[in-house]
Amino acid sequence: MARRTKEGFWERFSRTGVILILLYVMFIILGFAVRLLFFADRQTTSIVPNQNIVSAEGTATATTSLESTALSAESDPVSTDGTPVDQADSTIVGLEMAQSFVAVLEGGTTSVSVNMSTTGQASANDLSWSSSDPSVAMVDSAGTITGVQAGTCEITVSAKGDDSVSASVPVTVRRLEVIDGCTYVDSILIVNKSYGLPADYNPGLEDYVLDAFHVMQAAAAEEGLDLYIGSDFRDYEYQVTIYGNYSQLYGWEMADTFSARPGHSEHQTGLTIDCNSIDDSFGETPESEWLAQHCAEYGFIIRFPEGKEDITGYQYEPWHIRYLGRELATEINDLGITLEEYLGVDSVYAGPWEGAAESE
Ligand SMILES: [Zn+2]
Repeated sequence: MARRTKEGFWERFSRTGVILILLYVMFIILGFAVRLLFFADRQTTSIVPNQNIVSAEGTATATTSLESTALSAESDPVSTDGTPVDQADSTIVGLEMAQSFVAVLEGGTTSVSVNMSTTGQASANDLSWSSSDPSVAMVDSAGTITGVQAGTCEITVSAKGDDSVSASVPVTVRRLEVIDGCTYVDSILIVNKSYGLPADYNPGLEDYVLDAFHVMQAAAAEEGLDLYIGSDFRDYEYQVTIYGNYSQLYGWEMADTFSARPGHSEHQTGLTIDCNSIDDSFGETPESEWLAQHCAEYGFIIRFPEGKEDITGYQYEPWHIRYLGRELATEINDLGITLEEYLGVDSVYAGPWEGAAESE
């Protein structure tokens, strides 16, 4: 009898077990179904050819650079099922220029980033561009700005069909002149990877630059800080030696990131000084902090700032200052931009180093 009771228990147990296993399998299938649906949904979201990010309020923000404007302008937006998106569904509710200052050379082109707030799907196709003075600077439907003639004007971007949603930025068109092999942009001498100096340009450190440095040095000393000249004028031949050594040690591609090719060192202008110890340890000193804060008051800028390596072409150098005069240095410093951005020029070598073959 005890045996039958035991068997009855096992029969009931296995029936319960089968039901539990069935339930478990159903849960797994259900789970897969839900995950499949969710996954499929996520996939279609990422396929949408629109860079808008929808926020909790149902509005979307998108940062559209002009390069991507030009790209997206080539094809109309397409929804996930392949049909064109109805442009009437999209509304641009806000526009903002990402820059407050734009400079471009006569005959040169540049672009400016626009921050766009939208409801629904809107793209760069829904923007229209205009210039306050096309004889100074023109702008095309993709937002590419072309400098025509030295001067200033304003470039405006607005929502198509709604001029009340717009943003503007002042644009300065600058004139580049080459005099005796030296390049001046609006009369400011520019030396970087794009623009060099002749081998015989040999002014030494300019007197007025040394005077400005001494005034700055005295001001720093009053605060107990020791600012001194680590290096100033370097002639063409010096740079031949120093760059040649670096390129032999590290290869010219690597040398290009921290040393200037002969003729392309700003030190050859006689307007540049390296302060104190010329290495990264200077960046940790109170002198470095003071210099960054006050050098513009004495006519200097930190020429290769942190985070602007792609624009200046050089690593951050907290010790390297360039004289521009108090007014200009203060303006550039207040704008928080580099000399390249202020002048509307780039800093890129035209090609591989000519001496590369000889040095190998
Ligand atoms: Zn330097």
